[in-house]
Amino acid sequence: MEGTIERLHQEMDNKERGSGDRWLHNELDTLLKVHHEIVTIHDATAPDAPPAPSRPPAAEQCCGDGAGEGFGCGKPVNGGTSALGAVFHKECFVCAQCGGDLSGGFYEDNGYAFDDADCMRKHKQEHMSEEEKAKLPRCGGGAGPGMGCGEICFPGTGGTNALGAQFHSGCFSCAKCKGDLSGGFCEEGGSAYCSPECMRP
Ligand SMILES: [Zn+2]
Ligand SMILES: [Zn+2]
Ligand SMILES: [Zn+2]
Ligand SMILES: [Zn+2]
Repeated sequence: MEGTIERLHQEMDNKERGSGDRWLHNELDTLLKVHHEIVTIHDATAPDAPPAPSRPPAAEQCCGDGAGEGFGCGKPVNGGTSALGAVFHKECFVCAQCGGDLSGGFYEDNGYAFDDADCMRKHKQEHMSEEEKAKLPRCGGGAGPGMGCGEICFPGTGGTNALGAQFHSGCFSCAKCKGDLSGGFCEEGGSAYCSPECMRP
């Protein structure tokens, strides 16, 4: 009987020692301790964080600085509305074309804000340089005689493409009588005619 109890004790001991769980637990404990020490040491020796770059005083910012030219009043602004990479007086951040309210959202183009696409288009046309305008197609440019009004066709304004040329909507009409061509046309020499009668020289 004595011997059996002795043996049981030994077995339990062996089990304890051989238990992988326990071993892992102890090892983890040690690792955590070491990690904690490293972190503590690191914290103690960490150099002071570099000071955050000081922002220029808000008063030095001017209304609309950085946005499109002439957008915003250009006077110093403190707080206000931030948009387009600039700061505006609340009352200065309005549609660059019509002065409309932008609190419900806005269209952005080239540093300007607009309340609708129409204002954006108009503004673009009015502020376009002659150079830029020269690159735009002319109504009927490239088509035959009598076609188109010859004015600039601004992008996004609709219109008709025909005879290898661009036309304002309403400008694609019979080269002779200016009649409607929506029902089809006869073509001669790059010009469109509503009927064979108009096409006759
Ligand atoms: Zn302003
Ligand atoms: Zn507008
Ligand atoms: Zn035209
Ligand atoms: Zn005609």
